[in-house]
Amino acid sequence: MGLITAQNIYKDYQVGEVSLRALNDLNFEIEPASFLSFVGPSGSGKTTLLNLIGCLDTPTDGTLTVAGTDVVSLDRKQRAAFRGRHMGFIFQDFNLIPVLTVYENIEYPLIMVQNVPPEERRRRVLSLLESVEMTEQKDKYPDQISGGQKQRVAVARALVTEPELVLADEPTANLDSKTAYMIIELMKEMQRKSGTTFIFSTHDQKIVGAAEIIYTLEDGMIVDRKDTGGNAHV
Ligand code: ADP
Ligand code: MG
Repeated sequence: MGLITAQNIYKDYQVGEVSLRALNDLNFEIEPASFLSFVGPSGSGKTTLLNLIGCLDTPTDGTLTVAGTDVVSLDRKQRAAFRGRHMGFIFQDFNLIPVLTVYENIEYPLIMVQNVPPEERRRRVLSLLESVEMTEQKDKYPDQISGGQKQRVAVARALVTEPELVLADEPTANLDSKTAYMIIELMKEMQRKSGTTFIFSTHDQKIVGAAEIIYTLEDGMIVDRKDTGGNAHV
């Protein structure tokens, strides 16, 4: 059984009198330890879909199973708990907490959502700092580091709870293309090391080739699926 199974997923948004179909009958299965991308132009439904997989929103219709749980049937509180246990998130605008240091930003999810003893917290944070090559900057604040470095910290923060799944909605949209590529490569390296599934969205054809599986969205529908093995670099 896959890590994620989606069957006949629809998402409609009600805008005044008008109902807008953002996702139209999506069916897919995502295996554990995948490195996968949803690509498509602006408005094609990428954010809507990642929000469903990330249990931030619920579909209008369809079946969605994540890590063996029927997430459609969870209430708001259960969804929050499920996210904390199973998922890490990486954002387009990094979303680091400005008053916390690099170290503290990575440690934060462990303090918030999981009851991990201090020594184990320290071990995990130090190990991730090293993996994302940010050990030297660990006492700096977010406004003292570059955009690429902020996203490195965000990758570490997403992994500190040892989630099964990391979701990243256009994680490289605010980075220059060289840095964007490095962040995708870092995500891939972390995926290989940890076996965590990474799903990212992008509208940038240059970086999408790094994904091992590429789904193309158009007008809320999956119009293509490519299995590249991650070697379709352009
Ligand atoms: P993408 O992330 O690929 O740019 P989105 O998932 O944000 O696409 O949007 C898909 C479609 O749904 C678009 O037509 C968008 O205008 C619409 N949409 C997204 N969010 C909302 C919302 N909260 N209310 C109404 N329409 C929305
Ligand atoms: Mg979007």
